[in-house]
Amino acid sequence: MPFKERTKALKSNIPDFGKPKACSHCGKLKPLNQYPWLNEKDKKVKACCKECQKKKDLEYKSKNIERGILNHARRRAKRMGLPFDLKLEDIILPIYCPDLPWIKLKRNSGTLHDDSYSLDRIIPWLGYVKGNIRIISWRANRLKGSWSVYELELIAKNNRVEINRIINEGLLMVA
Ligand SMILES: [Zn+2]
Repeated sequence: MPFKERTKALKSNIPDFGKPKACSHCGKLKPLNQYPWLNEKDKKVKACCKECQKKKDLEYKSKNIERGILNHARRRAKRMGLPFDLKLEDIILPIYCPDLPWIKLKRNSGTLHDDSYSLDRIIPWLGYVKGNIRIISWRANRLKGSWSVYELELIAKNNRVEINRIINEGLLMVA
């Protein structure tokens, strides 16, 4: 049976299809096709509507990202012998990387990518403590490495001077 017809047939099999049901979450009366399946075989639907379920799933997923970051940090702190006093509420996920703001952050399952969430210790040796951490992109964190701000500024400044020299010497054609 084609997917569309199958879906239609399944929907028509929902008991009391026309009778609305109150969502356990938002309390709104909604027809049964607005509820996700609890058990498709027995034609049972969940107590909470699709819309609320979607919100709950998103919330759960996002809380899981934060929990994952926190657990990873705890293990790292132990391994590296660094102080750790973080709680779940300390892990705040920004939409964009604070250092490289054109990078929209996300969770990449498996390997790390440039746009993956990454926990930064602002002053690395201070450890994973309140006020010393933030979420940035993996790219920014990787570039920062274990460099001090002084070293990073010096490198950037010297490179800027050299690039300006190259431009002034006409070695680089700037349109
Ligand atoms: Zn609802």
